Amino acid sequence: MRALLLDSRAWLDPRTADPVASAGDALIRVRRVVLTRRETLAAPSCAPPIPGRCFVGTVERAPAARPAWAGVRVVGMASVACSTCDACRAGLGAHCPARTVPGLTRPGAAADLIALPAHALAPVPDTLDDDRAAFGALAASAAHAASLLRVQGKTYITVLGDGPLGLLTAQALARLNASVRLLGRREARFSLCEKWGIKHRHESEAGRRADQDIVVDCTGSVGGLDLALRLVRPRGKIVVKPLAPRADEPKGLERAALARLIDNEVEVLGSRDGQLADGLGLLSRGQIDPLPLISRRVGLADAPAAVEHLRLGDPVCALIDPTPRT
Ligand SMILES: [Zn+2]
Repeated sequence: MRALLLDSRAWLDPRTADPVASAGDALIRVRRVVLTRRETLAAPSCAPPIPGRCFVGTVERAPAARPAWAGVRVVGMASVACSTCDACRAGLGAHCPARTVPGLTRPGAAADLIALPAHALAPVPDTLDDDRAAFGALAASAAHAASLLRVQGKTYITVLGDGPLGLLTAQALARLNASVRLLGRREARFSLCEKWGIKHRHESEAGRRADQDIVVDCTGSVGGLDLALRLVRPRGKIVVKPLAPRADEPKGLERAALARLIDNEVEVLGSRDGQLADGLGLLSRGQIDPLPLISRRVGLADAPAAVEHLRLGDPVCALIDPTPRT
């Protein structure tokens, strides 16, 4: 099969071996893959090093437990639980210590085929097109952040980070009848917020008045949590989405930031992947709109150039369409 490989460079290998699907796996022909800038910055540690976490595809060979899934469109979870450890057997697959991450610790979807276990997949409703469905895993993460919050009365929420997750999470929160604003660093992203009716500010222009009821940190950086602690009111709540490795990152929270957390009795909640059904629900009801996030649309042959574009430029994400052109 063809696959985008990401090692010291990004390149297309037309002769990558097809993935080996066990009886519990579905073999999926990929229809669309979303590639974010963050995913292009670190090479996957798996072999072959295929990136791509967010995708939609058609089941070509159904897993033994789901024979009816042959020909069905599915999306995959951002991390794959082992299904056999104590945590998984206790229904805590999201916290499986042996979980793997497509596009990072197991081959991702930027290829013709991907194999994933049935428990890491969800069928896509017919009403949802491929371009939107490809954002299923990101939408699930945004939905999960929103599900942790009980919004009553006039609630002031700040979302930190103007990457794909921040932009989707701000949309998911805006429907909770709260006053939502997004703080980012890139002017071009603010026009997207305007399109969705979401307030926005440059991060450097926002006051540190500690007056926000809730701050959702989607920056993926320790610095984001530090800023969140300056923005949130005493006894307010901070939701932190997963950290991403960054070269310019401070090693941990400064003592002053920890003191702020303790003195203001701030509640800090971690939030990771969420349920695919929740993400697909937001997408199919039109409650979040991912299409403006697509900066570039390419076939697999042009995927290496799209990776360079993501690394060097300022796009939100690229959509790879591996289906052969006729
Ligand atoms: Zn497990």
